[in-house]
Amino acid sequence: MTATLETLAQQLREHGHKLTQPRCAVLHALLSTAKPLSPAEIQALGQGFCADLGLVTVYRTLELMEEIELVRPVHLADGCHGYVLATPGHTHHVICERCHAVIEISGCGMGDFLNFVAERTGYRITGHWLEISGLCADCQHIP
Ligand SMILES: [Zn+2]
Ligand SMILES: [Zn+2]
Repeated sequence: MTATLETLAQQLREHGHKLTQPRCAVLHALLSTAKPLSPAEIQALGQGFCADLGLVTVYRTLELMEEIELVRPVHLADGCHGYVLATPGHTHHVICERCHAVIEISGCGMGDFLNFVAERTGYRITGHWLEISGLCADCQHIP
């Protein structure tokens, strides 16, 4: 299912949040590209829809949207931090180090490894963070 402004607004409403103009602007920015965007980039793109969109508002909006799993933070190879729209369910990202293209992979086959970790540590494993980086097919051809 591809996200549209309508499905995203619906998700916000389900969690009791209104689609305010700044939130709408942030969603427009995220919908405009499949690549992870930094908060500053979201602000710049979002200002096309909501001229007085402030950076603090962007941060607050992203925090809220992360809480209800509407967006996902992505760590980029250069140490920066971007955001992409999240699809529901358990997914991981494969990110191109060069052009920042992102592909989402559902599931991860980590079950056996997590069981092993649980056995070794006695922990009850409640979550994990896995990101994979590499060079996308296009970037492999760039010298
Ligand atoms: Zn690439
Ligand atoms: Zn996983």
